[in-house]
Amino acid sequence: MSARPPGIIAYRAAWTWSGPGDLRAGQWLVVEQGRVRELTDRPPAEARRIDLGDGLLLPGLVNAHTHLELSFLHGLAPEPARDFVGWLEGLVRVRPGHDHLDATEATRRAVRQAREAGTVLAGDITNTFRAQEPAWEEGLHTVSFGEAIGPKRAQPPEPSLAWREGVLQVSAVAAHAPYSVPDWRLQALKRQAGRLPFCIHLAESQAEVEFVAGQGEQGQRLRQFLLDRGMNLDDLVFHGPRPLAHLLALGVVDSRSLLVHGVQLTPGELGQVAAAGASLCVCPRSNLGLTGAIAPLEAALAAGVNLCLGTDSLTSAPDLSLWPEMATLRRLFPDLPPESVLTMATLGGAQALGLAAHFGSLWPGRLAQAVFRALPGGLAREAVFDQALELPEPGQVQALDLRGQA
Ligand SMILES: [Zn+2]
Repeated sequence: MSARPPGIIAYRAAWTWSGPGDLRAGQWLVVEQGRVRELTDRPPAEARRIDLGDGLLLPGLVNAHTHLELSFLHGLAPEPARDFVGWLEGLVRVRPGHDHLDATEATRRAVRQAREAGTVLAGDITNTFRAQEPAWEEGLHTVSFGEAIGPKRAQPPEPSLAWREGVLQVSAVAAHAPYSVPDWRLQALKRQAGRLPFCIHLAESQAEVEFVAGQGEQGQRLRQFLLDRGMNLDDLVFHGPRPLAHLLALGVVDSRSLLVHGVQLTPGELGQVAAAGASLCVCPRSNLGLTGAIAPLEAALAAGVNLCLGTDSLTSAPDLSLWPEMATLRRLFPDLPPESVLTMATLGGAQALGLAAHFGSLWPGRLAQAVFRALPGGLAREAVFDQALELPEPGQVQALDLRGQA
């Protein structure tokens, strides 16, 4: 590492997208002390200048939902063959047999790949907090959601927020899902989450919807799965006919709630999510693999829901890069504006994790952690986002920690 003081550095790219509504050509991003000072066509005379060339400079990506500690199950978990309950059954069968594997090393590799693909912040579900150390060592900022399940298992520690040598480590609270955590505990966990984000998997599968409604073959299979896992179903009292209605009745959905998946949410329910100010995270490849569908994003966007993007874990996604997730959204939702897709992968995630003051945009005062996406020269303005969302070739994405060394 160089001991040279970072000073003021100005980075120029053919295009810079600082955040929603702000795509600029040929500007300089001025960075001081690791934070964005301004985006300008006249950098200060004392600034060291670095020209990145043809491409798009954008905020570092935010993976709002993953499970880093499950990385060791990559390639060992069952194929997600659009059978959610079957996949759960396979996963609980395979996991104990491989707990001897070096989970830390697998996590470190996964984090390194995510960092190289431009991810700077992750919302990470955990039962062990074992991923915190390798994530910190690789410079990945994390919101670690300690995840409670059942009536008493895995009580999350008290929420906290700390900067450790420039890397943010937040410890927050999650509940697994409406079908696996009793009503009273959901409320207690939400209270415990306090001013930090509270995360819960919601309406991921048809099985969950049927189980809450107390009907249907998939619901029956999920019920049997929970019984086999020792769950006392008397603990589960539902206060609404559908998963979201249940959570709304419990008062656990507000602007600090991060709802994950929402595959089965209806347009009407998305209006309720928006009214509550909650965020919705979709995990396109995982959702498609496990259920064959993704939440209706056009309706979510029209309703004004804060949308964000996750990969989910390596048990249901092939890697932790957000680029194939964005490319999948482009393919499935061609009418979704490409800038909205980029917003999901940046500011949407930062807002959902309560950290938009530091991440998700390159506005003044934000951390100068950015991604440079190489693009052909001479692009028309209208073509920039479309091109940027094409699945990148190796070497086309560069993670930049703009503290002096690119
Ligand atoms: Zn998950």
